[in-house]
Amino acid sequence: MAKTLCKWKKKEIEKNVHELASIVDKPNFACKDCARAAHNKNYLCKPIKLPLSH
Ligand SMILES: [Zn+2]
Repeated sequence: MAKTLCKWKKKEIEKNVHELASIVDKPNFACKDCARAAHNKNYLCKPIKLPLSH
């Protein structure tokens, strides 16, 4: 399983910016700990569903 975005370090964000772009595109979930967003809840430590429809 992929590491959650919540655990990404600054360097990893820079290095994986293309992967990050696809993860945060059209987000369905947000993390209620750190407010990150992702299309898949597996990328977040405390996911909550966002009330959005794309
Ligand atoms: Zn989090």
